[in-house]
Amino acid sequence: MHFEAYFATKLDGLRDEGRYRVFAELERRAGSFPTAARYAGDGGTKPMGDVTVWCSNDYLGMGQNAGVIAAMHEALDACGAGAGGTRNISGTNHYHVLLERELADLHGKEAALLFTSGYVSNWATLSTLGSQIPGCVIFSDAGNHASMIEGIRHSKAERRIFKHNDWKDLDRQLSEFPRDVPKIVAFESVYSMDGDIAPMAEILAVAEKHGALTYLDEVHAVGMYGPRGGGIAEREGLMDRIDVIEGTLGKAFGVVGGYITGSAKLIDFVRSFASGFIFTTALPPHVAAGACASIRHLKQSSTERLAQRDRVARVRSRLDAIGIPVMPNESHIVPVMVGDAAKCKWLSDLLLDSYGIYVQPINYPTVPTKTERLRITPTPLHTDADIDHLARALSDLWSQCALARKVA
Ligand SMILES: *Cc1c(COP(=O)(O)O)cnc(C)c1O
Repeated sequence: MHFEAYFATKLDGLRDEGRYRVFAELERRAGSFPTAARYAGDGGTKPMGDVTVWCSNDYLGMGQNAGVIAAMHEALDACGAGAGGTRNISGTNHYHVLLERELADLHGKEAALLFTSGYVSNWATLSTLGSQIPGCVIFSDAGNHASMIEGIRHSKAERRIFKHNDWKDLDRQLSEFPRDVPKIVAFESVYSMDGDIAPMAEILAVAEKHGALTYLDEVHAVGMYGPRGGGIAEREGLMDRIDVIEGTLGKAFGVVGGYITGSAKLIDFVRSFASGFIFTTALPPHVAAGACASIRHLKQSSTERLAQRDRVARVRSRLDAIGIPVMPNESHIVPVMVGDAAKCKWLSDLLLDSYGIYVQPINYPTVPTKTERLRITPTPLHTDADIDHLARALSDLWSQCALARKVA
């Protein structure tokens, strides 16, 4: 086998389909987010200039929150750089334990378990539950994230996919199995690409009817919704009806890491059987300290959430006014629909090069073909001037690219 030639051919295939990924090389600057310096991407030492980031998942700007940074400095100076081991072999730091308590409290659960990322938390938990519960069947929403899909696949449990957000289809599919078959229903609260929100009460009612265990990914909602940032389930008063609530520390909380929360026994079970938890070095203590500070802050402050909502409303109304097609939804995610992979990439390149606006194109397979889009995520730190500049730039490019506008 000519490995190099094979790799090159496969990569050319991606390029031909317009879905070869090119990373923007940025240098985030604490204190001036969403502004970042942009580098050429070749490791050169001089930045090309500043850009305004419009596609960050640091939804609330907590990555530069003074309290978060101070907590990280303090823990870094106190503990040093790394955790020094897996959780079982010398790596469990005081800060991990504090953070797990904070997370259990956030979701009103008995216990929590940390992972190195949200991806790993979904992958490890679903693959463990699916493989360790004999005869288990997992019912997965068609819109679920890759991390859940891969975890379910790895578990080798029987998998059923129900139509996106369709609790009636879920009910039908659950009904095909006898009551005594162990069932897990896995879904998300806020879906990342369309920004739509699950009919949670209906899904839970169906799951309860069939005695299924419920697994909810609140990655895009933690820190963002609910009076204490506990997510959509907190906002809807449904946390106590969900068996596993999973989240990330890398999006609204602004740091990195993932977690699950649930009953003490379920958490102990995953802690004891999940390979993806056991055989990996624990998060650095200062990361845990920073996440803890971020969660604590967002439990008692709604300032960031309210300011973020205000910015989202302003972006939406400005884009609506000039006929830029934005997918309607109830969340903080603003999908600007382009519907063509090449045009989407072209728009993103021009926004970056000519307007200093950074929005990564979202193409297949992240979204279906013909629904290619620019996924805009306003933060509390985007100013009116930033929003005006974005609207003007999109208006110019929409005309140049002969893209359809929405008739008011
Ligand atoms: C980003 C994301 C994850 C993974 O979280 P990370 O902490 O970034 O690994 C899981 N689920 C969904 C829905 C996501 O969008």
